[in-house]
Amino acid sequence: MDTSSDYDVIVVGGGHAGCEASLAAARMGSRTLMINLYHDNVALMACNPSIGSPAKANLTREICALGGEQARAADASTMHIRWLNTSKGPAVQALRAQCDLHEYHDHYILALENTANLDVFQDIVTRIIVEKNCIKGVETRLGLVFNAPAVILTTGTYLGGAVHIGMTSFPSGPLGQVAATELTSSLRDAGFEVGRMKTGTTPRIHADTVDWDSLQRQDSSDEPLCFDIWGEKKVHEGIACYITRSNPQTHEIIMNNLNRSPLYSGRIEGVGPRYCPSIESKVVGFPDKSSHLVFLEPVARNSKEIYMQNFSTSLPFDVQVKMTHSLPGCQNAKIIRPGYAIEYDFMPPTQLKPSLETKRVKGLYCAGQINGTSGYEEAGAQGLMAAINAVLSLRAEEPVVLDRSEAYIGVLIDDLVTKGTKEPYRMLTSRCEYRLLLRHDNVDRRLCPIGRRIGLLNDEKWKILTSKWKKIDDEIERIYKARIRSSEEVNNKLAEVGSAPLSESVPASTLLSRPGVDYKLISLFSPSSQTLSDEEINTVSIEIKYKGYIERQYRQVKRLNKMETVRIPEDFDYGTVPGLLSESRQKLEKVRPGTFGQASRISGVTPTDLQLLSVVLHAQRQRKKVKNGEEKVQE
Ligand SMILES: Cc1cc2nc3c(=O)[nH]c(=O)nc-3n(C[C@H](O)[C@H](O)[C@H](O)COP(=O)(O)OP(=O)(O)OC[C@H]3O[C@@H](n4cnc5c(N)ncnc54)[C@H](O)[C@@H]3O)c2cc1C
Repeated sequence: MDTSSDYDVIVVGGGHAGCEASLAAARMGSRTLMINLYHDNVALMACNPSIGSPAKANLTREICALGGEQARAADASTMHIRWLNTSKGPAVQALRAQCDLHEYHDHYILALENTANLDVFQDIVTRIIVEKNCIKGVETRLGLVFNAPAVILTTGTYLGGAVHIGMTSFPSGPLGQVAATELTSSLRDAGFEVGRMKTGTTPRIHADTVDWDSLQRQDSSDEPLCFDIWGEKKVHEGIACYITRSNPQTHEIIMNNLNRSPLYSGRIEGVGPRYCPSIESKVVGFPDKSSHLVFLEPVARNSKEIYMQNFSTSLPFDVQVKMTHSLPGCQNAKIIRPGYAIEYDFMPPTQLKPSLETKRVKGLYCAGQINGTSGYEEAGAQGLMAAINAVLSLRAEEPVVLDRSEAYIGVLIDDLVTKGTKEPYRMLTSRCEYRLLLRHDNVDRRLCPIGRRIGLLNDEKWKILTSKWKKIDDEIERIYKARIRSSEEVNNKLAEVGSAPLSESVPASTLLSRPGVDYKLISLFSPSSQTLSDEEINTVSIEIKYKGYIERQYRQVKRLNKMETVRIPEDFDYGTVPGLLSESRQKLEKVRPGTFGQASRISGVTPTDLQLLSVVLHAQRQRKKVKNGEEKVQE
């Protein structure tokens, strides 16, 4: 940083949201300053150093398609990677990588330090400066003032951070980092509501004290894989993850010590993550389950530290030792870092516009865990969008607001700003109504044109994409035109995959649509003149096999868009909507929205329930049209 204190964009925080925000703003040409309370914690993976899994992997790919960095950071640090949900449909299959947390951090540090227009500075922001409801800049602990018309807050779990281990609690950020204590009062002074949430993490144990031979081993995939759309797919050998399980003895230790749990003794006020609960919450919540899976995963290549995925706890240290020793393979395990819960301040995200700008203060944006989310992918996605919109706003251009049918990022932000969240929000495939449209494989088609338009994707990347898309389109067209004749050879192959024989020639697409028939089989009898990559073949196959479902989802999107202004009669009986959740029905009955658009913005009414409501309203309108038509005919 030079001595100048005037910037276009200031990013507060150097976590996953802060890194994406800083890089995007600077790459879009804005003079950007990242202020982070400790330069060595840039992109710190405070929990398990893993990227991906269902829905989260889609976010990472979407960040990549829009010109963000997370996919490249994950690829640069992957130790172990595999596909999840391979036995399920394409909409929920996802990559998951175990990363080296030091290499992940190094990747971001280098990216930040080598990006033009970007200054990084270590200090703690203590105050936002607001004049006439517009952001003017920030002040730091050193008493420095930095000015900018756009400020992005990405303070994560550090804001008012308090760590709990048993009955011991102390002010702290994650992993022994300092907490940011002063900024919250400045946010309250500016009129913002601030709430409290909590999350937790597991003990880390020493690798040499685990009996690995007694555990189930999980190797990295032998298929070359990567997250980056333009990346080089690789096989990652040598590092494995292992599986152990909790058992009745573990559960008994936990139950006997619940009175010493900060969660169950009422010491923690903040609401925790429902979808990533502590082991004590699982044992209390599911008393009939005698065992829970625990994954033992390395955190870095040059470290003996092992993360115990699914074993998050804030019980006292002596209890953590006993619980750990009760797990097969861990009887002699030594804990390097105890598990803990952390409480922190967040800003309820209904205070934000869909651009992630606050409604109250122009030019002030929030992204990441400060908005009530949990996860590196959720944070990165918001950081990127906040920066894109901050820069577009400075250029007096319209913000990029992604639709729910366009991106998981659209679902994430729409959920946050319209419905808010009472507990740490994690992205799940079930939150998304159009899963088949928002697949891992078609992310480039969905979002790269936007990344290109805003200037985050260069010519070289664009050229690669356009030739890939042409190849895919040509191949789909070819398969629809080609026919496969009935022959003994064809029918033998079909018998091998349990598919009925052909009695006459059929379009190759019809055959490919059959369960069990894959592109390889089709190619034997109707080969393509071009060479397609596995990824391209995957897209071609999905587009043909799932054509009917995909088209149906597009029709639903169109219908919902048309429904926005559809009126809901004042006396509408929500009891007539089959399958509507009672929670949604009660909310709709209480608010009595005038239009479907209003109904869709009521907090807590699920997307699925809106679909159900739209079907009934649509049917009513159709009936009314028919009735009116009939009456006219009778006249
Ligand atoms: C204990 C624990 C458990 C977790 N469990 C899970 C889990 O189960 N599942 C999951 O997906 N994710 C989990 N995570 C969450 C994951 O780590 C976060 O969601 C993610 O890091 C959030 O990214 P972020 O950028 O919003 O914030 P962070 O990564 O927390 O980064 C915040 C940044 O802001 C900086 N900062 C804060 N205040 C100031 C200030 N005033 N001035 C200057 N700099 C400041 C910090 O130095 C830091 O760089 C957990 C995190 C913790 C700590």
